[in-house]
Amino acid sequence: MPVKKILLLGNPVLREKSEDIIAFDNQLDGLIVDLRDTLIDFQNRKKIGRGIAAPQIGVLKKVIYLNLPGRHFALINPVIIEKSSETFQVWDSCFSFDVAFFVLTRRHTSITVKYQNQKGEIIKETFTGNLSELLQHEIDHLHGILATDYLVNKTDIILREEWEKL
Ligand SMILES: [Zn+2]
Repeated sequence: MPVKKILLLGNPVLREKSEDIIAFDNQLDGLIVDLRDTLIDFQNRKKIGRGIAAPQIGVLKKVIYLNLPGRHFALINPVIIEKSSETFQVWDSCFSFDVAFFVLTRRHTSITVKYQNQKGEIIKETFTGNLSELLQHEIDHLHGILATDYLVNKTDIILREEWEKL
């Protein structure tokens, strides 16, 4: 099972911009397997997490993999084409923080994403609530942006143990 090492906050690769996927080939299929296996391994070890982006395993390509209850899929070359003016606050963490701490962020309540599936078919899908904030977090990874960048107040950062009491 090709579980990859997850790059951690401070690693400069996490700040790079990812490239589009052009070829929907075996190499892409292999990357998606690596993301899936690394995500599932992390979920099993840490009992948390829903998604992973390719830069987190050191691959600067626009691929995200989500493993949600009842649905798991890859989003390739995702672009946010619409976002609600309405926003909400959410405590956010990241595999690249080792989910050791959470930061309070503000995200759009609803977004519409245009992406390609593993076969290269173009899909437009609207995500709301906790899926909306998840997708905003994961798409940010493709642009070198991390949840800590949204920290507005110096006090809005807490360790996981305190987050679990919220
Ligand atoms: Zn993350």
